[in-house]
Amino acid sequence: MPSPVGCWSAFTRRRSCGSARRGPVVAVAPSDPDDRPSGRALRRCLALARHALLLAGSMLGIPDQGPLAAESGRRITVVLRYDDYCSQSPTDFETWLMQVLDRYQIRCTFAVIPRICAGNAYDPRPQDVVPLDATKAAILRRAMKGGVAGAAVHGLTHQTTRPDQPGQWSEFAGLPEAEQAQRLATARREVEQALGQPVTAFVPPWNSYDANTLTALETAGYTILSAEPDRPILPTSSLQFAPATCDLAGLRQAVAQARRLPDARSLITVLFHSYDVSELDRDQGNLSHSALEELFAWLAGQKDVVTRTLDDLVAEGMPLGADRFAANYIERPGPLLLPFTGAPRPGAAVYREPQAIVLARWRATRLSALLYFTAAGTAFALPFGALRLLTPSRRRRVATLALALSAAGLALTLAYCLYDSQTGWIQLSVLVTLLGAALGCAASRGLAGAPVALSPSAVAGAMPPYHEGEPAAH
Ligand SMILES: [Zn+2]
Repeated sequence: MPSPVGCWSAFTRRRSCGSARRGPVVAVAPSDPDDRPSGRALRRCLALARHALLLAGSMLGIPDQGPLAAESGRRITVVLRYDDYCSQSPTDFETWLMQVLDRYQIRCTFAVIPRICAGNAYDPRPQDVVPLDATKAAILRRAMKGGVAGAAVHGLTHQTTRPDQPGQWSEFAGLPEAEQAQRLATARREVEQALGQPVTAFVPPWNSYDANTLTALETAGYTILSAEPDRPILPTSSLQFAPATCDLAGLRQAVAQARRLPDARSLITVLFHSYDVSELDRDQGNLSHSALEELFAWLAGQKDVVTRTLDDLVAEGMPLGADRFAANYIERPGPLLLPFTGAPRPGAAVYREPQAIVLARWRATRLSALLYFTAAGTAFALPFGALRLLTPSRRRRVATLALALSAAGLALTLAYCLYDSQTGWIQLSVLVTLLGAALGCAASRGLAGAPVALSPSAVAGAMPPYHEGEPAAH
């Protein structure tokens, strides 16, 4: 039975809208466009180009981030976050899921709703609630005891307190801080009573919260929050943040991405629901039971990957403060940095370390400057060298025409940049190339010299003097 709650995540929305960053790709699907020969060839070319650039960077003395990973050994941490565990969620599937987790010794956080609203979660009007029943609590307790499950609080009722508008649903955002703190404390107390152990992780329904939620969470004794990127943070918050970075279908790609990074302690948080399973939801599901088990088997086989719960992250002391959130999602890399220079990418599926991001940004800045300079120099040298093959008079005409064309292109591009506030590396690349070409044409035109005016007097002046009546010398 599909979950009546349905926590709309960014990943779900991307699937629904068909505008996915990576597309609605099933991790094991053979039709993955990246697996086609052309896709592989392109990927290899890009990787080759990137390695060549990084090699150039290292030769120029640009600091490498390698030591970061080498110091203590690279480890990729994966947090599986299963949302909407409650009295109305599909028990058969969840029991099967826990068995699979146990089979592969994979840890997973179950985000628990202590008293799910009985009716429509998108309707803010008062309605009955259904507390977490003893059976569901016992199932989760057993999995926690077995070492494969952790728990988080997933709201109190998972009912929106806002008008029913897509994208606006929230149980917390907009409520006064005191009311939020009370809800959070009640929810935590009920989940802890049901499970018989402390729970200090919070997952907001619809991943939605506001700044008041952050202080209310501290008041209510929570330690870690898992929502999504592009959510509010307070720089002074004592909370730890582990935002969801991908869905199940993107997990393999995220691990591959993490392996390409120099970060010693990268984090991937995978958000999933029962409706991601195709047998439970034909519309939204993109993984079958067997594909999900295959994915977990693959995950368990990755030697450099460990799975942890949200509580584990806090217990192990992984640095997940507000500074890491800001470095990943707020301090965006400059739009003028060229791709393939290792510049941190917004929207990446890996939650990176702040110091690795700073180093990557610095290296990308220097490499980008080098490449812009190289592009301008090449654009200068090509017309300059080519025009020298022409005769001086022809060179001057061609150089004048090429100079006019490149100057016009330069003016048009500049006008576009002034008009478009989203100016980035593409526009800057065009600008420096046109500027180099214009300078190359101008220099070549200057070397051609001033045009020679072949006036009769000049011709006469060039001839030996001749006096009338004198015999021509023989
Ligand atoms: Zn939810």
